[in-house]
Amino acid sequence: EKSVARRPIAELSDQLISQIAAGEVVERPASVVKELVENAIDAGAGRIEVRIEGGGLRRIAVSDNGCGIPKEELPLALRRHATSKIHSLLELESVASLGFRGEALASIASIAGLVLTSRVPGADHAWSIGPEGVQPASGETGTRVEVTDLFFKTPARRKFLKSEATETAHCLREFEHAALSHPGVEMRFFANGRAVSVLPAQSARERANAILPHDFAQASREVFAESEGLKVSGWAGLPTAARSRSDAQYFFVNGRCIRDRMLLHALRQGYSDVLYNGAQPSFCLFLEVDPSQVDVNVHPTKNEVRFRESQRVHQFVFHAVEAALAPAMSGGQAPESL
Ligand code: ADP
Ligand code: MG
Repeated sequence: EKSVARRPIAELSDQLISQIAAGEVVERPASVVKELVENAIDAGAGRIEVRIEGGGLRRIAVSDNGCGIPKEELPLALRRHATSKIHSLLELESVASLGFRGEALASIASIAGLVLTSRVPGADHAWSIGPEGVQPASGETGTRVEVTDLFFKTPARRKFLKSEATETAHCLREFEHAALSHPGVEMRFFANGRAVSVLPAQSARERANAILPHDFAQASREVFAESEGLKVSGWAGLPTAARSRSDAQYFFVNGRCIRDRMLLHALRQGYSDVLYNGAQPSFCLFLEVDPSQVDVNVHPTKNEVRFRESQRVHQFVFHAVEAALAPAMSGGQAPESL
């Protein structure tokens, strides 16, 4: 038998625990963009601005005009497992906010420089928390989070990253996911000081047109169905507009962009056999489910969900997509009134 020099069991430091958690939550700069934008949305912001530099590695700054964080709670915002979004298991079962784990800011702060500046309505000025503790700061009502030198302390992770252009594209994609599902929020994305995406508050259709491929608007059908706690809306691209790449496929469940094999299967079934093998349909679908019918606590990145009645959701989405495409497939035109 192999002899090992046993080392004593010891508790990990809070810092190390956060760094380990960060490995799950923060895969790349885009993960930071996602978490910060989600926080802004949860704060009820009507305006969100994202600025990144160096693909997000040098700097990511997200500011919003949401509810802000009172000075006394700033240290808690950066603490692991501290959240204002749920306070019990019961609330977790029906969580409607995008966040609930209370670990994003703590994780990010453990592997990057992080300064959080916030001002609540009625306060004389803003306060910030960073390496020097809590200090008075300037700023309007809302919150601004500045993340610098991401992965500086974890060079192993940094090595896995791609070029600046690729990381910028991933950051933009996360921004667009949030933008698609929150069309009423004015949103802007800047990379290295250049405005890449400037979106006014608009309707869902206008927002989709601004983000989805140019040919999508002309070559798609509206999807809409509602039935006992389930609702789906959005657009499904015509089979004739299918692409070889799967880059225009968006599924949102309660405002969260998710990957789900069951939903993808239901959708493809809705296209029945009109899609050639390998052809990728374009679609952007928003599924609304009673929060108690869906478990969002599946993975730290919150990119996956589990449905209580998976089979029912499958049938629902399948029929909705099939009905939307039916006129197109039989060669006719979709009736105006549908
Ligand atoms: P979670 O979002 O899961 O609660 P986070 O670590 O992302 O965890 O944030 C911790 C807490 O900090 C949130 O619960 C929220 O109260 C507060 N917070 C973070 N970002 C913002 C923001 N942009 N505006 C207002 N409050 C925020
Ligand atoms: Mg959060």
